Amino acid sequence: MENPFDTDERRAFRDMIRRFVADEVTPHADNWDEAGAIPASLHEKVGALGVFGFGIEEKWGGLGFDDCFMRTAWSEEVAQCGAGGVAAALGARSISTKPIRDLAADSIRDRVLPEIVSGRRSSSLAITEPSGGSDVAGMQTTARRDGGDFVINGQKTFITGGMSSDYFVVGARTSEGRLDGISLFFLEADTPGFSRTEIDRKMGWWCSDQATLYFEECRVPANQLLGEEGRGFLAIVDNFNGERIGLIAGMLGAMKLCLNEALTWARERETFGRPLVHHQVIRHKLAEMSARTDMIEAYLHMICWQVNAGRTPVAEISKAKFSASKALEYCASEAMQILGGAGYLRGNPVERIYREVKVQAIGGGSEEIMRDLAARQMGF
Ligand SMILES: Cc1cc2nc3c(=O)[nH]c(=O)nc-3n(C[C@H](O)[C@H](O)[C@H](O)COP(=O)(O)OP(=O)(O)OC[C@H]3O[C@@H](n4cnc5c(N)ncnc54)[C@H](O)[C@@H]3O)c2cc1C
Repeated sequence: MENPFDTDERRAFRDMIRRFVADEVTPHADNWDEAGAIPASLHEKVGALGVFGFGIEEKWGGLGFDDCFMRTAWSEEVAQCGAGGVAAALGARSISTKPIRDLAADSIRDRVLPEIVSGRRSSSLAITEPSGGSDVAGMQTTARRDGGDFVINGQKTFITGGMSSDYFVVGARTSEGRLDGISLFFLEADTPGFSRTEIDRKMGWWCSDQATLYFEECRVPANQLLGEEGRGFLAIVDNFNGERIGLIAGMLGAMKLCLNEALTWARERETFGRPLVHHQVIRHKLAEMSARTDMIEAYLHMICWQVNAGRTPVAEISKAKFSASKALEYCASEAMQILGGAGYLRGNPVERIYREVKVQAIGGGSEEIMRDLAARQMGF
């Protein structure tokens, strides 16, 4: 579909990313996923494209401007390599740089943002706990004041990049209050009392790492408090919006790949003397996949337009997130059906996307939580 918001600059950026993904990512995505990691060099290659620099000032190595259409073009295009773990491994830093950029002390920003934005080092966002992820205000990790420090105790789990990141943005409870008792902290991986273990044997996203993090009397100086004490919940929910927009765009890319794979196959494969695509049942599946993809794309463009205008359309972001995971579930399932037995084999991107649908329906705000948030935002 033609995008009414397209400009020469946005088209050029997308073309550059598309070429990069086709040349440097897609040919290796299968092997990386089976091996359980992307090469360390990929972080810096992607950093050199400017992908991590949106909304970051040039003095910190950023682009000095932001553009939601360009940000989402990256998420959409990289998803078309067919392995969601690639975007997850690279993107852990993208969901944790905003609190550092907005809330960290200058001494921290000056030191770590250039490293993160260039891809030399990585950062992760640590919110979810073994006791639950949906109820953010119910988190149990604590941070108590002790002289000029905070001392953190507790656990986080499912943290993307948790094994490989050097820096963490950690949510912790500084007082009893549900919403006003939560604060955010910047924490370095070599802090005494910090340890981590890998979460193994996952359904998908194999080439990204997820970890459980442990904080045992982990002491951080008070200047590593991000923003004001007790204002962390607002910063976390604000940060979720950007993460969710990226996930929507990634799902859009995966839907497009499912449609392309299914259509290519349906044109080549013959049953009962004619190509699959000439059987009406199959044509209707493809038309439905295309329609659902178009709807998510159009919705995403409207959200990007609003974000660029300085608004945060929380209800629309929430509705688009659960609509996208439902649409992706449909597209992955029907693409598998059209591919028949061939779709059931490892090495086929549709097989992987089918396995990875659920992380999109759960992670970064589950479908249930997104529906509830949308309803509340709309005043229901
Ligand atoms: C691969 C992967 C990567 C992740 N990366 C990160 C990361 O980098 N950082 C991070 O902090 N977290 C991360 N997460 C955690 C993710 O955000 C959580 O899994 C998610 O928020 C849901 O939390 P939970 O798994 O604890 O489920 P729970 O909160 O225990 O919920 C379980 C189920 O109950 C439903 N539910 C909960 N409350 C309600 C309600 N009130 N009404 C109806 N239904 C409800 C939920 O929708 C869900 O389906 C990751 C998860 C995965 C799987």
